[in-house]
Formats: sequence, C-alpha cells, structure tokens
Amino acid sequence: MNYYSLLHNSPKTTFKNAVVNGIAPDRGLYFPENIAPLSKHFIDHISEYTNHEIAFEVIKQFVGDEIPEEKLKEIIAKTVSFDFPTVKVDDNIASLELFHGPTMAFKDVGAKFMAQCLEYFNKDNDDEVTVLVATSGDTGGAVANGFLGTKGVNVVILYPSGKVSDIQEKQLTTLGQNIKALEVDGVFDDCQEMVKTAFLDKEITKTLTSANSINVARWLPQMFYFFFAYKALHKTQKELVFSVPSGNFGNICAGIMAQKLGLPIKHFVASTNINDTVPNYLVNGVYNPKPSKATISNAMDVGNPSNFIRIQELFNNDIEALRRAFSSYSFTDDETRSAMKKIHSSSGYVSDPHGAVGYLGLKKYGLKENEFGVFLETAHPVKFLDVVEDTLPVSVEIPEQIRGIMNHKKIATKASSYQDLKDFLMN
Ligand SMILES: *Cc1c(COP(=O)(O)O)cnc(C)c1O
Repeated sequence: MNYYSLLHNSPKTTFKNAVVNGIAPDRGLYFPENIAPLSKHFIDHISEYTNHEIAFEVIKQFVGDEIPEEKLKEIIAKTVSFDFPTVKVDDNIASLELFHGPTMAFKDVGAKFMAQCLEYFNKDNDDEVTVLVATSGDTGGAVANGFLGTKGVNVVILYPSGKVSDIQEKQLTTLGQNIKALEVDGVFDDCQEMVKTAFLDKEITKTLTSANSINVARWLPQMFYFFFAYKALHKTQKELVFSVPSGNFGNICAGIMAQKLGLPIKHFVASTNINDTVPNYLVNGVYNPKPSKATISNAMDVGNPSNFIRIQELFNNDIEALRRAFSSYSFTDDETRSAMKKIHSSSGYVSDPHGAVGYLGLKKYGLKENEFGVFLETAHPVKFLDVVEDTLPVSVEIPEQIRGIMNHKKIATKASSYQDLKDFLMN
C-alpha cells in the first residue's frame, strides 16, 4: 500500500517508510492511497470472527505485502491481547471500555502495533531509530510500555511538567532501558512543537520517527475497536452513533476510516473539553487553533489537533458533508463532573473524565428512537484517581499493573527549550 502526504509536496511512499519516518519530508501527514471497502459478507457475519481475525481483515490492505501474513497475524495477537467490553449505562447508551491493556488507556493498541512493526522492519539491520513522542498524558505510558526492550529503537518522551497525573508520570518515567523521559517546562503544545522542530532540524542526523497518532501504525489499528463494538452491539438492530472523547482526533479519525471500510455507523460525535477548536470550526467554518488549556480530562488538552486534516481529507474537504456525518461539542470541567455523578448515580458505573465527556456528547447530540449510542471509555478511572475520588463517593481499587510502578523511582531530564531537547538528542 502506498501513502501520500496531505501537503502533496512529497513522493508517495510505502507503509514501511511511512512508519519509519512518521511524517512526510514536506511535514505532511501520510494518508493511504486507497481505501477498499470490506466485503458485505464479512460485515454481516462479523459475529463468526474472532477479534484477531477481524483485526487482520481490517488492517491487511494498509500493510500490503510489506509484512508477511503470518508475521502480521503474530503482531496482531500481541497487540489485541486483552478485552474490549461494552457495558450498558443507560437504555440506549453503552460504554466501550478500551482500558483493559497494560497501561490502561486505549493507546496500548496503537503503541504495541507500531512497536512490533518497527521491530520487524529493523530486524535485518543495525540501524537505530529514535522514537520521539509528545504526550498529554496517556501516550507516554503506552509508548513506554509498548516499546520497552524493542530492538533497535530508542524512545524519548516529552511531557508537560505538572500537567499529567501521578500515575501517568510514573508510567512514562520509571521503566528505564531504552525509554527516556524529558520533563518540559510548558504545556502539551510546547512539547508537540519541540518534537516538530526536531524533525525539521537538519543538524540532527539520527533517524527520528513519531509515535503520536500522526504515525500511520499508531493511528490505523484504532479502527479495530469500532469493529469490536459493532460485533458486540449490532444485534440491538439500532443504528450506532459513536461519541469519541477527542484531543488529537486520531481515534475518531480511525472510526471514520472504519465507516469507509463499510462498517455501518450512523453518526460520529467528537466530544472535547474546553479545547474547542473543532467544535468552533463546525459552527463558523474557520479553523483557528489556539494554545491548549489545562482541564481534568488532560489527555484531550490539545489546541491544534494533528489528525483533523485527515478527517477533512476523508470528507474531501467538504464542510457540509462533514457536518452531516459528524458533530462536535465542547464541555467544561463542571459539566464533566456532573456527568460523572449522573452516570454513577443512575447506573453505578464509574467513568473517568474522558469517558464522561464522551457521554455528554451523546446527550447533546440527542439519540433518536432507532439509534444506540456508544461512548469510548478511553482510560481506566484509576488513571485520574484524584478527580474521580473527589467527584464520586467511591474509592477506586488500584489494579496490580499500576500498584507495581507506584514505588518505582521517577527518572526524567528537565527541558525548558528546544535547545535542551536538541542537546539531549545529540549526546
Ligand atoms: C489520547 C487520549 C484521548 C484523545 O485521543 P485522540 O486520538 O488524541 O483524539 C482521549 N482520552 C484519553 C484517555 C486519551 O489518553
């Protein structure tokens, strides 16, 4: 499969090069040249397939012959290694729990898949690749875990000091080995900007790639969840509306890809916190990125969502077509806390702040009689322990995989400017 740059100023390239380089030479995001719908027979008989078989059907055209089938199946088995349950919280609403992986956020799937692909592409040479990643919270942990011990890959994670939760910080600063953390004096957008500058810097001769959702191997496997949810819920005979708590808009963009592959999805709701660049765009047609603001759903504190350009491509840059298939609403922290309380008091379900924003999106959209809403529960509530325990009358039990790291020692290098990152990479 070939990929082209969305800035249209670079040659087309292979899946391998798109993964190894992360971003095109003209700094554009890569996009697949073809998207061939899956057979109707497959979609109609999805219940007869295992999750591994579904994932293979969904991803194989995007990898093409660049990874042998048997190897790709192995990679999928390592990636899709936990459950993706749907839990009903209302008559017509379910939570799709994406947090049963090793770092308890949905990003485990994309991070593991990408790490496995890079390891495969590096198997016959001694080249080293440096994965540079900016995190607003959960990417760091997922990438650290997914890439730990991966041959030929060094990982450098940039995170905004004081703006990730304690558990998130432990997950990305304590593993050691090939994983290094830079604690940046700034917000997430500063981290993302430093990463982008490093990619442009000709004096850095190391091979750099990104493990943010701009990387196609991080982004595309996120299509799987939508198929798993459809498999679980299509028997309701209702049309599915997905609400995706969105930051960089990679997850929801993968959902739209799933729809392009033929998955019957009625509508998408991109739910955001007060970082409302996309909701504003849908209202007034002007895309006006702003600096990100800190919220209790910190993994979505993004003022200039990197994947939105892919969504525009999927709708041929036609805002009217986008508006028909896709809504986007923004919610305050107070509204988010109220939603957490409401979900808990009516069903006993404990949602994390991101999932609660997703729930709010469904309520605002207003489900019709023949529709069933699914919000993506993108992280386990324990990852946002302070907010959850301050808001709800519960104490969240700390799962084993988290308890283990809480006593580990944080190791991070402070950085306050691009030069600090550059010095770090050059040494
Ligand atoms: C990363 C993240 C998001 C946002 O996902 P995008 O693909 O960047 O839109 C939402 N919730 C949680 C918990 C996350 O970690």
